[in-house]
Amino acid sequence: MKTYPQQVICKHCDSLYTRQSVRSGEAARCQRCHAVLYRGSWLSLEQWLALTVAAAVFFIIANLFPVLEIQFHGQSQAATLAETTMALAHSYASPLAIPLALLIIVCPCLQILLLGWVLWHACRNKIAPGFAPVMRLLAGLAPWSMAEVALLSILIAAIKLSGLVHITTGPGTWALLGLCLLLPVINHQDFHSLWRLKTLKEKRG
Ligand SMILES: [Zn+2]
Repeated sequence: MKTYPQQVICKHCDSLYTRQSVRSGEAARCQRCHAVLYRGSWLSLEQWLALTVAAAVFFIIANLFPVLEIQFHGQSQAATLAETTMALAHSYASPLAIPLALLIIVCPCLQILLLGWVLWHACRNKIAPGFAPVMRLLAGLAPWSMAEVALLSILIAAIKLSGLVHITTGPGTWALLGLCLLLPVINHQDFHSLWRLKTLKEKRG
């Protein structure tokens, strides 16, 4: 099978380009439609891995600690992200519960785990087992990972309920905020550089 590792196609207008190296923080754009073709990574592999690990820590805190605490008639009730989704499953909006859980819990979790897997091996100058399917899965997951949807729904719920009950945001919400800030950073690095490393490694044997 013939492969073309140096060719890049514009997703928007199908123009074909030969890949050039871009400096960190810069983007290569399509000449025809000006869409971004790829960006230069502004993080080293080690920094990229460190931020992915930080995202994993934020993800764990966001899922283990309460996102909302409600005080009503002297009683206090705290809910984690999973409990909030479960509550939705038992309400009139139950058809939304599974897609919501996928968007805010399953997809970000998979994304962080898979990226961490590939980067951890790349930092040790190795090719991660299952590299190609993992990278394809990562590309497919990117548009479906929406931690910010969770943050937005929590804030809307907090604002709506604040007139009826005393409501405070828990540590889970702050971790979710951290996750929402980190995910776009780790997802907007140059994934092609990982493929390039793989090709180089294979050439050297
Ligand atoms: Zn284009």
